[in-house]
Amino acid sequence: TKCSADGNFSKGELLPYGDIKLSPSAGVLNYGQGLFEGLKAYRTKNDSILLFRPEENASRMIMGAERMCMPALTVENFVEAVKLTVLANKRWVPPPGKGSLYIRPLLMGSGAVLGLAPSPEYTFLIFVSPVGNYFKEGLAPINLLVEKDYHRATPGGTGGIKTIGNYASVLKAQSAAKAKGYSDVLYLDSVQKRYLEEVSSCNVFIVKGKTISTPEIKGTILPGITRKSIIDVARKQGFQVEERLVSVEELLDADEVFCTGTAVVVSPVGSITYLGKRISYGENGVGIVAQKLYSSLTSLQMGLAEDTMGWTVELN
Ligand code: PMP
Repeated sequence: TKCSADGNFSKGELLPYGDIKLSPSAGVLNYGQGLFEGLKAYRTKNDSILLFRPEENASRMIMGAERMCMPALTVENFVEAVKLTVLANKRWVPPPGKGSLYIRPLLMGSGAVLGLAPSPEYTFLIFVSPVGNYFKEGLAPINLLVEKDYHRATPGGTGGIKTIGNYASVLKAQSAAKAKGYSDVLYLDSVQKRYLEEVSSCNVFIVKGKTISTPEIKGTILPGITRKSIIDVARKQGFQVEERLVSVEELLDADEVFCTGTAVVVSPVGSITYLGKRISYGENGVGIVAQKLYSSLTSLQMGLAEDTMGWTVELN
């Protein structure tokens, strides 16, 4: 059943970055009716700008909007809005090798609503910010803590979409892990507390021989665009890739573990702590599979390799 009106968005405008006005009773402020996306634009040596699979972000936002009773832009309108915003901010896209322009589209219930109900009005906006490379000197391994007591999603919940509330629910576990010196939290499924789900803002993969496994998408983890791309790239390179239930015990004899996401791209995991036991990977935590996949994907995204997948969108 449909719970929101069809989208009928007015023509957008380009505005300088600044505060926005919202009613105190806006749906997003009171009932968390908000979605976001994240993607990056890279500047190439020829001074063109590359977006990476922006239509995937559009589709994911449309899927999220359906779950959150929100109308959404079409794929075409979303991608067009991203292109116009990036072009208007072209001077902020860092030079090749120096980072990227992070693009943050937001869709929110901006109309006033007092009783619990979908908002009567919606706002779509995009803001951008230059960001440096996630790792200053090549790949740096991260150290994860497996969380037993907190979960980021439950079956039937909203873990599979990029809604703001999912991030509110991880703040406490993530802050506690960081205070203990970990980079982030690795969540388990909330029913059996035994299967890997994902990290606060990236997907997880384990490597054993020539097989790479990653938790299957079943509504409680975010279908990452980097995850999907890495699966394809790895298969092309001859790896066997399995999307399935991955139990926490498999961490004990994995050769490598890595995470994927727009921010981290491919991030090797140096150690994982589970029930007080620390499992370390590789010599310095940077596995060869993660390294290889990182360079394949970044070369595509930065326009250093030929885009045989047709994943990049060039702006001039
Ligand atoms: N999981 C979560 C919870 C995330 O926030 C993100 C970042 N969007 C990801 C996974 C990775 O998704 P993507 O590769 O599309 O950035």
